[in-house]
Formats: sequence, structure tokens, C-alpha cells
Amino acid sequence: MTLLGALALTLQLSAVAPALPPLPTLTVRAGARLQSVPTIRHPDGGIAVRADVLAEALGGQVVTEASGSGRYRFEVGTTGLDLEAGSALVVAAGDTMPLRAGVFRNGGQLYVPLALATELLPRLGAGVLFDPDKAELRRFSTVTVARRPPATRAPQPRVRVDTPGPATRTAPVDNVRNAPAARSASLRQRVVVVDAGHGGPDNGMSGPIGVPTKIYEKTITLSFAKALRAALEQREIQVVMTRTTDTLIALGDRGRIANQAKADLFLSVHVNAANPRWTNPGGARGFETYFLAEAKTEDERRVAAMENEAIRFETDADLTRDDPLGFIMRDMAQNEHLRESGRLAELLQLGMKRVHPGPSRGVKQAGFRVLVTAFMPAVLVEIGFGTNKLEAQYMTDAERQRELASTLADAVVRYLEQYERKVGGGG
Ligand SMILES: [Zn+2]
Repeated sequence: MTLLGALALTLQLSAVAPALPPLPTLTVRAGARLQSVPTIRHPDGGIAVRADVLAEALGGQVVTEASGSGRYRFEVGTTGLDLEAGSALVVAAGDTMPLRAGVFRNGGQLYVPLALATELLPRLGAGVLFDPDKAELRRFSTVTVARRPPATRAPQPRVRVDTPGPATRTAPVDNVRNAPAARSASLRQRVVVVDAGHGGPDNGMSGPIGVPTKIYEKTITLSFAKALRAALEQREIQVVMTRTTDTLIALGDRGRIANQAKADLFLSVHVNAANPRWTNPGGARGFETYFLAEAKTEDERRVAAMENEAIRFETDADLTRDDPLGFIMRDMAQNEHLRESGRLAELLQLGMKRVHPGPSRGVKQAGFRVLVTAFMPAVLVEIGFGTNKLEAQYMTDAERQRELASTLADAVVRYLEQYERKVGGGG
């Protein structure tokens, strides 16, 4: 039974039966460090954990505001939660949120309901995710999320920042239709997850062919992902990164991060590699965008196999479990996310066509593990062939990265605007 199962059972039983099952232990993983956080029963039912032990296991701390005040600050990374003993309300970044049960003191220690760890922290983009399958709370210190403005704040007048585009912009018509202030107010509620492919021991592809100095895919994807984050934030879209350093995030976790951040779309960045058996592998060039579906062609299968390889580096990946890919894809076929992902892929591909020196290899579909766990429109962009000398140069040039990021960010804005028109103005 999973911890969550055990917890659900505990919650049910505690309400009706006096015979309680043994208390579960929460496992916290921060980097390579694994720690057990003991739990106790909450006086109002349910499970609670000691706040300071939980915070420290996550690499954070609990600060007592003023002695005797009963007020505390629970800090993990840049996220701070204001707590008060006896209260079930938590204040984070100006927003007040309810917990399932109150914060309380017991034996001189502060306790918080377990839901603070398994639900609230992941939702706040605190760089924490809860994996119910493994009953594990994980900290990936590298995630950043732009602060959401309080919902009540009036839309601020927006200064439109036009990035220099290489081609004449056809956007003005669109801009007239969407008053900038109205547009910015709704876009500011949007969250995009930018996923830099590979990382840590997983270098991804290396190239280019015929050049002694090697560059790695993981390095290009990270610097490009940062450029993309900057471009999206410039357009007032909130960004969550799955990683901002050279570290390995499990493929399944990348989607989970997106789900727990309640993201509107998921964009995974990768660099393509030619098949060495091709006639002129070093000559292969171009960019392509994938969305999740069954691979149809040999080439789509090649790219999917290559990107799914990363699972090899996940030491605790459960390879014996039934592959959920088929099931989820069948499920997704009825899902509008699939259509939305296809539409997003088309817009991104169109955008890249305007600035990318290589040929467009089109919108494609394949079964990517990284996209499977993201329950939202999700695409994977291969921004070029790292095996090609010229494209390797192009993709590592900071100015070109900014230009390409900017065109992708424009495409994301267009996608979100169309989506909002479709659903009738969004929230
Ligand atoms: Zn890749």
C-alpha cells in the first residue's frame, strides 16, 4: 500500500474506529539525501508532522516570529509560509490559504498537517513535489516560479515590450483586437513550464560530428530554457523551470512538476542528433516540434527512443511496472489536450520558421515519456541538430538563442490568446 493509501485509510478509520493503524513515515528526498520524517496523529484527526523536522529535511527552516506570539515562518527556498499555532490558515506571498486542519503545538514543538507538505508546498511552486506512488516528498532546489499577483489587484497598465524581430510582424491586427491591458491581465494568470531536457549524468546528445570540442545537449537546453524563461516573463507569463542547474530530474517528475504547478502548458526543449547510419549524418539540419501521440514514422520513433533513453539514468525508475504510455495515450486521444498540443506545436513551428536558419522538419507526433505525465497541452521542441556544425554554432550563440526564444514566446502568447478567445475570455 502506498503512503497515500495508508493515509486515506487512516483518515477514514480515525473518524469511525478507535483501532488505528500504525502511523506512516514520510520520506523526504532533497538531492541525494533521504530523510524520514516521523508523523503523529492530529488532535482533530488526520496526520501531522513536526514543522522544524519537515523544513530541515527539505533544506529549509522554521523561524519563530516573536517569542510567545505563536507566529512562525516556514521557509523552503524562496517560499515562506506564515503560520500561527491554533490556526488553519496559512499566508504565502500575500495570499491566505486554508489547511485541512490547524497548526498546533505539542510538547514544546510546532506541528503542521501533513497536507501542508503533500499539497500546499507543491502547489506554491516551492520546488517541492509529492510522489504518491513512492510516498516521497522531493525537493528540487532549482525550480523558480514568478510570484502570482494577488487576485484582487487591478490590472496594471502594460508597457508593451517589442523585441526586435527579423521579419515584419504581422501581429498588429491581433493587438488591436486585444486591448493590451485586458490581454495582460489574463496572460499574467498563465503558467508555462519550461523543461530543459536531460541534465546531470545524462548529457543527451553530444556533437558536432567532425569537431574535436564536444558540446552537450544538456548544456544547450539549459541555456536556451533560461532564454525562453526571460522571453516569456517579458510577456508577463509566469514560468516554472523543471531545472535551472546541471541536475537530473526524472522524466516522470518533469510532468509532475507541471501538474502540481497547475501549469497551462508544458514545453520541453531538446537538441536533435543525426542517426550515424544516415548517408551524411553531419549534414542533417532543421527544427521540429512534437506532441504526444503514437509515433508513425521511423524517424519519429528514432527521436522518441533517443529522448526516452534518459530513463536509463534514473536509478530508482521502476522499469518493471507496466508501461503506462499506451493506456494514457488512448485516454488522451479523447482528450482535447491532444488537439491543443497539436495546435501549439503548429504555432511554435511557424514561429521558428521565421528566424531559424535550418529547414522546418514539421510538426510530428511520438510517444515521449516526458510528455506522458503532463496533463495539459505539452510539446517537445527539437531546436536543431547538435550533430551539425553550423546548427551547433547557431544554438550556442546567446544572441541567436534570445531571438529563437523570443519567437517561441510570441507563439505561446498567440496560442494562449486563441485559447482564451475559445473558452470565452478565460478566468
Ligand atoms: Zn533530448
